[in-house]
Amino acid sequence: MEVIKKPDPKFAYWHGIPREEIPWYPTIDEEKCIGCKLCFVSCGRNVFSFDNEIHKAVVTKPYNCMVGCSTCATICPTGAILFPPKEIVHKIEKEHRVIGKIQKKAKAKMAKQEYERVRAEVLAELEKATFNMKYAITGHILERKLLNKLLEYMKDKPLDLVDIKLHTPSIKGCWNEKAPSYLEFVLSATGESDLEGYTKEIDKIIEESGCVIIEKNKV
Ligand code: SF4
Ligand code: SF4
Repeated sequence: MEVIKKPDPKFAYWHGIPREEIPWYPTIDEEKCIGCKLCFVSCGRNVFSFDNEIHKAVVTKPYNCMVGCSTCATICPTGAILFPPKEIVHKIEKEHRVIGKIQKKAKAKMAKQEYERVRAEVLAELEKATFNMKYAITGHILERKLLNKLLEYMKDKPLDLVDIKLHTPSIKGCWNEKAPSYLEFVLSATGESDLEGYTKEIDKIIEESGCVIIEKNKV
């Protein structure tokens, strides 16, 4: 069977290193392979093909293999799958300062996880919301710092603005009062609250900022 030396495009690099420069992939001891197809079915990167003529697994896309991983060798029932020593990977990690690159990626991933955690918390709170009012507003929203004013008002109250969408033709233009913006949000309140009073106050803040409410509906 043909061995394809080039990895699939999504596996072309490992932390910036061309994948073909890293000699990490499985080889199969044909004598030991009993053709159970476990490796063929389990590998999510299509490293293996199955040769029906010889009834054995074959490594046809070696450079698709995940660097440093050896799962298929662990699960092969006859120990037919072999990998090079892990030191090869450690040497490349040192030479290319991979750990430093990983720190940056880890930071970004942690920030994303934190964002998702907060988002999940907010969505859980929203499920408990007893009141949602959708607003659409236009006017000089950024220049008048409308969002800051609303946030200041809501600080100690069981209110939040969620699902906020702000459309501006240009942030500089809007800041200098040259162009109005368009803002949509849902005012969400939890628990027993004086909702009537809160929305009146929110309306007042919007109007005092010179902005116009163009839509206000319970959702
Ligand atoms: S898991 Fe092992 S025995 Fe089974 S097909 Fe793959 S190499 Fe052969
Ligand atoms: S180590 Fe993982 S990615 Fe590499 S060939 Fe085995 S199962 Fe596939």
